[in-house]
Amino acid sequence: MTLLRHAHLEPQTGTGLIVRRGERLEIIDPEGEQVSDLISFADDSRGEWLSSGRTIDYANTIYLTRGHVLYSNRSRPMWTIIEDTVGRHDFLLTPCSPEMFRILYRTTGHHPSCFENLARALEPFGIPPNAIPTTLNIFMNVEVLPSGKLHIGPPRSRPGDRIVLRAEMDLVVGVTACSAELSNNGRFKPIDVRLHGEPAAGGPRPRSHEVPHAGPSARGAA
Ligand SMILES: [Zn+2]
Repeated sequence: MTLLRHAHLEPQTGTGLIVRRGERLEIIDPEGEQVSDLISFADDSRGEWLSSGRTIDYANTIYLTRGHVLYSNRSRPMWTIIEDTVGRHDFLLTPCSPEMFRILYRTTGHHPSCFENLARALEPFGIPPNAIPTTLNIFMNVEVLPSGKLHIGPPRSRPGDRIVLRAEMDLVVGVTACSAELSNNGRFKPIDVRLHGEPAAGGPRPRSHEVPHAGPSARGAA
């Protein structure tokens, strides 16, 4: 396999890309303690999406790691986790969003969020914001306490840690460097995304849409 593409996501940004069946998507935390939210849709049927409920049901665990298959809402395999140097990710919680920052943290004004970054990244592929479900929150450290309460701890990822997902179908993928303070131990870091596979005959196909960082000037905007 060769490196088809490398995207360096600056802090609090996201990107969208097409991943073909058999290709391998590598998500790397270059500095440590940084979450990356990921969602995917079937390229041939945008109403088919990566399903937290189906995946947790069939894996019979909330702690997904190497060897687990990630299923769509139609119970088709979308991904297989083939490498994982951390072993702790979350698939219970939705991507951080403007509403979440307002409801949980009473944030006033604009706060960058994975939801907005995913919506921007997926819009060129014809996927509307309302279609974005629970994301696979790579490196996010959520534990269920005996009381049933959830505890969000610092990610267990150290610099260079990674997870590798093998695509089991052609996918539209959105991926971020997460924007939530609590999930990332209070500091926003980049995420590296590498796509490995066999080069397509006839040259590369256009299949990415970068989302530039909104920057401080965007704060306060609607
Ligand atoms: Zn986030």
